[in-house]
Amino acid sequence: MTSNTSSPQPEPSSFAWCSWHNGYSGDARLVAMIEQGSGVGAGSNLFACGPCRKANGLVPVADQ
Ligand SMILES: [Zn+2]
Repeated sequence: MTSNTSSPQPEPSSFAWCSWHNGYSGDARLVAMIEQGSGVGAGSNLFACGPCRKANGLVPVADQ
């Protein structure tokens, strides 16, 4: 094993599971769940990718 390998590794800081489309995303951000009754994981902090944030009006915690 050398340190010259070029294996693609996603950034751990932005690569997370999007709970809205149920899949990994490279631009997922931690978002604060707004009380939506029977929403996805209501009451918990979840990660959402860019498209899902736009579609659901989610705001990353860092931007709040
Ligand atoms: Zn998503």
